[in-house]
Amino acid sequence: MRKMFMLLTVFAFVMMFFGTSTVMAGGDQNRGEIGQGSTYENNCEDQPCFEDAPMPGSSDTLIMQSANETSELDDTEIHHLLFIREEEKMARDVYRVLYEKWGNPIFANIVESEQAHMDAMANLIAFYGIVDPVTSDETGEFNDEAIAKLYSDLVERGSQSEIEALLVGAYIEEYDILDIWKAYDETDEERIQTVYQNLYEGSYNHLGAFVYVYELVIGESYVRQILEEEDYEYVMNFDTQANLAQEPKQQKGK
Ligand code: MN
Ligand code: MN
Repeated sequence: MRKMFMLLTVFAFVMMFFGTSTVMAGGDQNRGEIGQGSTYENNCEDQPCFEDAPMPGSSDTLIMQSANETSELDDTEIHHLLFIREEEKMARDVYRVLYEKWGNPIFANIVESEQAHMDAMANLIAFYGIVDPVTSDETGEFNDEAIAKLYSDLVERGSQSEIEALLVGAYIEEYDILDIWKAYDETDEERIQTVYQNLYEGSYNHLGAFVYVYELVIGESYVRQILEEEDYEYVMNFDTQANLAQEPKQQKGK
């Protein structure tokens, strides 16, 4: 009974959130105020989470691999392109596994969005003539060791229960948001920033979706896992441009 209720609400919600969620690129005047200088501390008091999970950022081997292959981007910009390409794959692959495990349609829907994010990153990487770190499309295969570990930790946690799976989804989205904000701030290439904006706004939607369903099922407020309070509130109250296009009277940002 409760399962049926959940499936119905999830379906309704997914239709609402993703039916028109092709997020359009464009300017975002509010971006400069957020996500800067955050300390990446896990918020583990009320729920299990990974204190040893790799925080957004480190992947020196990949920088070495591609540093000499473009003169237009610096090492930091290249590092972010490579890391986020695999990070999007990690999200897709975790959601694939959790969908197979639990059959909750929220995962299947977000898998498609993560595939689009992966493809967008692949296009950027090709444009700048960098070697793609994704050499196999197989679920669970990664070049970056930190991402591979995160993948296996999150699959293990999400396999414990459907509630844990929803929390894993929210964790991944918080993680992505922080990482993509950082990458956005560390490039001056508009072509790259446009893609990053699509990605972080997609993550805002995904986080909102996981939180919504989690709270519906458990009847309690979701407790943010990595984002600072201020940034979490910003994200949860952000109207993406796709939503703005539908409801032009709404105010954007904080
Ligand atoms: Mn994504
Ligand atoms: Mn996502």
